[in-house]
Amino acid sequence: MIVILLGPPGAGKGTQAQRIEKSQGLVQLSTGDMLRSAVSAGSEVGKLAKDFMEAGKLVTDEIVVGIIAERIEEDDCKQGFLLDGFPRTVAQAEALDNMLDQNDLKLDAVVEMQVNDEVLVDRITGRYTCADCNAGYHDKNLKPKVDGVCDYCGSTNFNRRADDNRETVISRLESYHAQTAPLLPYYEAKGLLKVVDGMADIDDVSTQINEVLGALA
Ligand code: ADP
Ligand code: ADP
Ligand code: ZN
Repeated sequence: MIVILLGPPGAGKGTQAQRIEKSQGLVQLSTGDMLRSAVSAGSEVGKLAKDFMEAGKLVTDEIVVGIIAERIEEDDCKQGFLLDGFPRTVAQAEALDNMLDQNDLKLDAVVEMQVNDEVLVDRITGRYTCADCNAGYHDKNLKPKVDGVCDYCGSTNFNRRADDNRETVISRLESYHAQTAPLLPYYEAKGLLKVVDGMADIDDVSTQINEVLGALA
C-alpha cells in the first residue's frame, strides 16, 4: 500500500506516520527527516537545503524528488510506504506519478489531515522529539509518561527543531496554502483524496486513518 499524509506543518503527519509504521508495517518516508539528516551530515544536499529550511521555505523540487526517487528503490519500501511531507507542490506530485509508473506501482490514497491554522502555531512551538529514537512529543498535548524520559527507548535527550519558532511557522503556513494546498484538488480529481479531522485527539485521528486504510485493504 502506498499512502500520502497531507496537511499543514504541525497537522500531526509525523505523529500518525510513526503509529501507522508500527501498526501496519508501512515504512515512513519523511522528506523533512531526510533533509534534517542531510543538514546534520553536511552533505551536498544538506548544504543546498539548509537556508531554505531555516527560512521556512520549501527546498527545490529537484532536491526532494531526487531523494524520494532513490529512497523508494530500497528493499524496505517493497511492502509499501507512507509519504509524510512529500509531495508538497504539484510539480512534485507529477514527478511522483512518473516514478510510480516507472516502477509499476500505484498510489492507494491521499489522507488529508484538516487542522485550523490557529492551533498549528501552538502545536509547532510545543513540539519536541526524542534525540535517540525520534519519537514525537508535545509540551502540553503529548508528554512522556515519566517526565524527561522517552516512553519508547528510555532516553533522556530530546531535540527541538531550529525552524519550530513562531516566525518560521508563519512562512511555512504561507508556503502550505500557496504551494501545497493545490494538491487537494489534484488528488480529488483522481478520486484518491480522503479527509480526516486532524483537530481530534491523537488516538481519534489514528482511528479515523485506520478506517480509511482498512477500507482500502
Ligand atoms: P513539518 O513537519 O512542520 O510539516 P517537515 O519536517 O516536513 O515540516 O519539513 C521541514 C522543512 O523541510 C520544510 O519547511 C521545507 O523547508 C523542507 N521540506 C520538507 N519536505 C519538503 C518537500 N517535499 N518539498 C520542499 N521542501 C520540503
Ligand atoms: P507534522 O508532522 O504534521 O508537522 P507532528 O506530527 O510533528 O506534525 O505534530 C506536531 C505537534 O503536535 C507534535 O508535538 C505532536 O505531539 C502534536 N500533535 C500531533 N497530533 C495532535 C493532535 N491530534 N492533537 C494535539 N496535538 C497533536
Ligand atoms: Zn526515544
